[in-house]
Amino acid sequence: MITIAIANQKGGVGKTTTAINIATAMAATGWKTLLIDLDPQGNASTGLGIEAAARELTSYDLLLEEATLPECTLSTDIPGLDIVPATQDLSGAEVELVSVEDRTARLTKALAQHSRAYEVCFIDCPPSLGLLTLNALCAADTLLVPLQCEFFALEGLSQLLQTVERIQQGFNPNLGIVGVVLTMFDRRNRLTDQVADDVRDCLGGLVFENVIPRNVRLSEAPSHGMPALVYDHQCPGSRAYIGLARELIGRLPETRKAA
Ligand code: ATP
Ligand code: MG
Repeated sequence: MITIAIANQKGGVGKTTTAINIATAMAATGWKTLLIDLDPQGNASTGLGIEAAARELTSYDLLLEEATLPECTLSTDIPGLDIVPATQDLSGAEVELVSVEDRTARLTKALAQHSRAYEVCFIDCPPSLGLLTLNALCAADTLLVPLQCEFFALEGLSQLLQTVERIQQGFNPNLGIVGVVLTMFDRRNRLTDQVADDVRDCLGGLVFENVIPRNVRLSEAPSHGMPALVYDHQCPGSRAYIGLARELIGRLPETRKAA
């Protein structure tokens, strides 16, 4: 199993939209896929149609070692895609874990015994660099960073990259960065164009060729409890995520590309 954390401490940049749709695209391509909702907002769970009442065991129980991965996992309407849902309770984990000794390794431990059940696991992180995101970065093989094309985009990124460096030096020396995806790209807006150019100048090949356009269908889909890829698989946003999934698969280590 390859584990991919989707993280950026900046809020509303498209982490969850990316997590839902890329996980769906990978599952549709035949990869046995798990999505872990690690955000107390529970947006990934909602966006995949998991009702609040169905979220009995969640990523909170996983981190607090109150339940195992199979116990916390629900299947979704998408064949080949399972989810560990989240509820507001998860915000408590951030506090409760502070006094625990192996507090950044909880997710790593929870995934360790079950790494053969899935081929790929995505982790949807909350908009902070707190203990939840640290758990994700410790458990991950690699990081996928959604970056919104706006003026301060690069500023936030340097803080994230510093955190990645710290994690590499301490807990998880093999943590990689599989790529940066530009989101909410608006061709008609000169500023987003300029930001996209700057980001590519600065990060080069780290930036995915596939760019996610600003597309209202992507923002409508979650209220119907389905990925945009199911809600309207022809819309520009869905097509962009299919292209991104293909590009992502191309960047994964050869041995993991069996599917
Ligand atoms: P948070 O930091 O709060 O977890 P996030 O980084 O997960 O946010 P999303 O929830 O994916 O970001 O997106 C923020 C909002 O923007 C949502 O309402 C979402 O539907 C919308 N959105 C995301 N991507 C696009 C897009 N490409 N085009 C239009 N709307 C988008
Ligand atoms: Mg989110």
